[in-house]
Amino acid sequence: MKLVFATNNLNKLKEVQEMLPKSIELLSLKDINCFDEIDETATTLEGNAKLKADYITNKFGFNCFADDTGLEVESLNGKPGVYSARFAGEPANSEKNMQKLLASLEYITNKKAQFRTAIALNIDDKKFIFEGICIGEILTRKQGEKGFGYDPIFKPEGYNQSFAEMTSEEKNSISHRGVAIQKLVAFLNDY
Ligand code: IMP
Repeated sequence: MKLVFATNNLNKLKEVQEMLPKSIELLSLKDINCFDEIDETATTLEGNAKLKADYITNKFGFNCFADDTGLEVESLNGKPGVYSARFAGEPANSEKNMQKLLASLEYITNKKAQFRTAIALNIDDKKFIFEGICIGEILTRKQGEKGFGYDPIFKPEGYNQSFAEMTSEEKNSISHRGVAIQKLVAFLNDY
């Protein structure tokens, strides 16, 4: 079966393909000649994931899944959440996003936060949602050089390192996206 992962991130694609049975051939957006800018206009992570998966299934007719991720900070009522990529405005800039978040929490003691990923899957006219959560806290300053996005200021619960101090294998094994993908893969393996 051919299955589109609505992404152009080849690292994400390779990681998921390696976890899937050989009977499933994973395709990127480029593989199906989709170069469209798919607007993420929903107000929830699930909504955006569905928007992307539905766009591909409706326009190209493929079984498809798409993901969307946000960082939800408890004392900020779940912000930046679905707006994590552009928290500090357009164009998206990770350094500015982190500085804005550090400044927002400077005088707040509750630094609890979670990363949450929603994956929407369209398969044979049926629709499914998978969720992955990684609980942790926002640090008071950046730690580590690896990863991307908010990794240097997020420390997962039970660890002494930020995401940016972990290898990608360590991070993937506990991360929001890793957990959501494991659920998706378990489902597809049994499908
Ligand atoms: P996306 O849905 O994967 O594009 O994620 C949206 C935004 O959330 C990104 O632009 C990053 O700012 C942030 N983000 C998502 N996943 C991670 C992660 O694993 N570490 C740090 N930041 C992330």
